Order: sequence, then structure tokens, then C-alpha cells
Amino acid sequence: MYSIHDEEKIKEFIKEIKEQAFRYAQIENAIYKNNITNFDEITTISKWIREMLKEKFFYSSLEIDHVVTWENGQTTKILFKTKDGYFVESVIMRHLTGRNTLCVSCQVGCPMACSFCATWKLGLKRNLEYYEILDQIMEAVNILASEWKILRNIVYMWMGEPMLNYENVKKSIDIATNQKKLNLANRRVTISTCWIVPGIKKFMTDFPQTSLAISLHAPDDEIRKQIMPVDNTYPLSELMKVIDEYTAITNKRVFYEYIMIQWVNDDLQLAYKLAELLKGKLAHVNFIPYNPGEWVSSDWYKPTSRIIIEKFQKILEKVWVVSTIRATMWDDIDAACGQLANKKEE
Ligand code: SF4
Repeated sequence: MYSIHDEEKIKEFIKEIKEQAFRYAQIENAIYKNNITNFDEITTISKWIREMLKEKFFYSSLEIDHVVTWENGQTTKILFKTKDGYFVESVIMRHLTGRNTLCVSCQVGCPMACSFCATWKLGLKRNLEYYEILDQIMEAVNILASEWKILRNIVYMWMGEPMLNYENVKKSIDIATNQKKLNLANRRVTISTCWIVPGIKKFMTDFPQTSLAISLHAPDDEIRKQIMPVDNTYPLSELMKVIDEYTAITNKRVFYEYIMIQWVNDDLQLAYKLAELLKGKLAHVNFIPYNPGEWVSSDWYKPTSRIIIEKFQKILEKVWVVSTIRATMWDDIDAACGQLANKKEE
């Protein structure tokens, strides 16, 4: 069986059954433009073609196991079950500005072992296929369409490290941004990486229009090594070198995510170091107050207070580095990445 997103296989199938080539455009329109969610509703093709399609293709590779929406309706977390029985999560964030964003998973679990994250506790089970990433996106498109809303942004930042599943992530972006398919603007797609340097190099050549976010979380190697083991392989100096290359090629602002954990990476000395590191660069820092929850490895971690985060912002302002504080929309739905999947595995 093949995925409905496999254009080549559908085209082969149309030839095999001796139908005309334009049938593909009809099927493509139904899937991506008309929010049709099963074969029986593709009424632009005849019933016998639909029946034959069902024998060779599956419409979605994921089954919805659980949907939780935060009480003010801004955040929805979807827990999916894969065909081989694993659990992955996506999160829809409806911003008051009308900007609807989806965070997608690209791996089942994650091998990177960041100490503040629940996902790595699952270990890496496997990479998601491109169509499993797309099916998360399709589900969000359909949920939002039922509310008369449009999905505007996709961020590859939930379960897994996108640069470790590069080919599947790449193929899913190609389909999501294809004008005949989901037609999302390239600049509205963001890849968030915990700084796998070779991946960033490939990414800037393949996707100069797509946005890049770096999980920075500390402006020096000593602290980074404590919370993100990846720093042992790719130290800060190497990362900043590749980011300079990225900016030279794309002229795009890089987003830096900084999870604020009390007494771990929120000493004001670090704010000055951060300012020094990013001074003069095209940078936007997104401070994320740590989200305490079950399944996160270090039980004693606590979020930094708003007052301290604002002090960090003031220090960055002095060197003209823009920053924002991410709203914590989701504390009560186990919304730090991997928390629902961990519960389910248990
Ligand atoms: S923060 Fe991201 S890269 Fe780190 S363990 Fe969690 S999912 Fe993996």
C-alpha cells in the first residue's frame, strides 16, 4: 500500500488503469484544496476508480488517538497512533492575531537527550516517513478548516530532531509548499534544530527561503553541555560559524530559542554573554519559560520568573537584538513535547 501523497505512484496507477492523465489533478485537488478526508468523497472521479485507489493507497497513515484543547480554545494537542503502533504528537496554536501555527513531530521519540525535554525519555524508536509528517499537517488543516480558519505556519519542532530525518522532512516541506498542493509560503515554514551543523549546511542550500530556528538555551558551552549533550559534538564556535554562512547566503533573520530554567541558565551574566554573542547579527530571541511537567528528566527544574526574563530582554535591547517571551498557552494539557506520548507508552 502507498500513501495518497505519493504522486509518482498515483500517476503510475492512473496509467495502469488506462485513465487520462488529468485524473491526477482531480485527485490532487480533492486532497489538498477541497479538504476531502476519504476516498469516497472524491466525487470528481468515478466510483470504480475510487474503489481501485482504495486497494492500492491509504488516505492517512495516522489514526487520531486523542485530541485535547486548552480551555480558552487557543491550543489543541493531537496524539496520533502510527500504523505500527507508536504515538506522536502535534500542537495547533491559534494566536489572537489570526496566525495559526502547527508544531509537527518528525521522529518517534528523539535521541538527543536534552535534559529539559520529555521526548527523549522515549528514546529514538524510528524516523517518521514524509507522509506521516504530512498527515499531521493535513489533520491540522482540516481541524482549522472546520473552524473557518487557515493554517499559516508550520514549525518542525515537536518530537524529534528534524536534521536527523532530513530527507523525509525535506520531502514533506516540498509537498506542503507546492502551489498545487498545500501552497504554504516557504518563509512560513520553520525548521527548529538543536544545532546539527551538517544539517544546517544542507538546509541553507535546499531551502534558502525557509526559516531557521536554533535551540540555543545557553550562550556558552559549559552550560549547554549540561543540558544539551549535542554540544559535545558541535560546540558554539562551530554553530556560530555556520550561522554566519547561513545569513550571508539567505539574508534571513535566525530565531534563537532560549528555554528559561531557574538557576540553570538564567543568571544575568549569561544575558550579557548572550548579548555579546548575538550583537550585530540578524537575530530574534524567543524566551520560553520552562514548562514543568511529568516525564521531564530533571524534576527540580523550575521556570524562571517573568521579572528575570524581562531583565534579559532589556540587556539584549541595548545591543539591538529583538526578543519575545513565548506565551505559556498550554500548561494544563501536558503540552511540553513528548508528554502525552510518554503517558500513552506507559
Ligand atoms: S528538545 Fe528537541 S532535540 Fe532535544 S530531546 Fe527534545 S525533541 Fe529532541
